[in-house]
Amino acid sequence: MHRSEITLDLDAVRHNARQLIKMVDGAELWAVVKGNAYGHGAVPVAGAALEAGARALCVATLGEGLALRERFPRARIVVLGPVGPGSVPAASRAGLECVAHDDASLEALSGAVEYHIKVNLGLNRYGFDRIPDRLREQPVGVFGQFSHAHVDLEVTALQLARFLEQCEAVPRATRHVCNSSAALSLPAARLDAVRSGSALLGVSLMTNPSSRLPLRPALSWISCLAQVRNLPAGAAVGYEGAHRVTRPTVTGVVPVGYGDGFVSRLVGTTVLVGDEPATVIGSVSMDALTVALPRRFPIGTPVTLIGDGLPMESHLRFASMANWELCTGLSNDPLRVHRRILNDHSGSLPVS
Ligand SMILES: *Cc1c(COP(=O)(O)O)cnc(C)c1O
Repeated sequence: MHRSEITLDLDAVRHNARQLIKMVDGAELWAVVKGNAYGHGAVPVAGAALEAGARALCVATLGEGLALRERFPRARIVVLGPVGPGSVPAASRAGLECVAHDDASLEALSGAVEYHIKVNLGLNRYGFDRIPDRLREQPVGVFGQFSHAHVDLEVTALQLARFLEQCEAVPRATRHVCNSSAALSLPAARLDAVRSGSALLGVSLMTNPSSRLPLRPALSWISCLAQVRNLPAGAAVGYEGAHRVTRPTVTGVVPVGYGDGFVSRLVGTTVLVGDEPATVIGSVSMDALTVALPRRFPIGTPVTLIGDGLPMESHLRFASMANWELCTGLSNDPLRVHRRILNDHSGSLPVS
C-alpha cells in the first residue's frame, strides 16, 4: 500500500469540458491548466480537454507554455501571465500567444508574436485601463479578468460593460473575459471564448451560479490508517502536546503530512475513515497526521482526504483557503505519493 494515492479521472475532465461547451453555446472553451492544472497534472488534463473539444490551452508562465508545446505540437497555447522582453524570441519560436498588459510589453510583443491585449477591470494587477489608440499590430485577442466573478454579479456586470466598451477599440480581436464562475453565472459575458480551470476539473466555487452544471470532480486523494491507538483521558497528541483528549479516545495515524500538501491549517477538518467522518487533531507533521476515530478500525482502512463524500471545498471552507490552494500544493513527488490516471486515451503520459 502506498502512503497515499492521488487519482485523476480523465473521463470526468472530458465530461466537464463537454458540459461547458454545451452551456456556452457557441463560445469557445479554453482550458486553463496553469499550476500543473491546479496540481492535477497539466499534460493529461490538457489532452483530455482538447479531446473533448477545448480550442486552446491557457497557462500562467512561459515555462508552462514551452513544456506544453512539447507535448501538444499543434495546440493553440496562450501564456496569460507576463513574459519578459528577453523571452519573447523563445515564445515566438514555440508559437505561443502572449499578453500585452502595459506599454513595455506591447512594444516587445508587437510584430514578434501573436498577442492578446489585457484590459484592467478592477483587479488592478496587470492590464491597460484603456487600450491605446494607435496599435502597430492588431491583437488576436482582447482579454479581461473579473475581480468578483464568484461572489458578486452586480460588480461583474459593471466590469463587463467596461470590458465591452474597450473591446470596440479592437473590433477583430477574440473577446474573452470569463473564468468558470463568470461563465456559469453571467451568460452575457461568455462572448467569444471562456477560460475555464475550476469547472473543467469539476468544481464550482461559487455561491450562486445561474447555470448548475452536473460537474464531476476529477481528483481524489486517498490514504489509509497506519496505526490505531486507545488513548486514556488526558493523553496528549502531537508535538508540544498540541491536543489533549478529554475522554478515552481511539486515534488513528494517517501517513500523510504537510510534506504531501496536507497543510497544518487543516487541523480540525474532517476526513472520512471508511465512510465515517473523523476529525484531524493534534498537529500535522511532515509525514503524518492524527485523527480522532469514532471507534476502532482495522489498520489499512482507507482514509479519504479528498474524494467521494468529501469535496475539496469542505477543507477550503474550514481553513479559509484560496480556491485551489490545497490542490495546487499537493506533492507530485513519486517518492511520496502514488499518482494514477484513469481513462487515459493518450497512451501512457506521466502526470508531471
Ligand atoms: C486561472 C485563470 C482562469 C481560470 O479560472 P477558474 O476560475 O479556475 O476557471 C481564467 N482566467 C485567468 C486570467 C486565470 O488566471
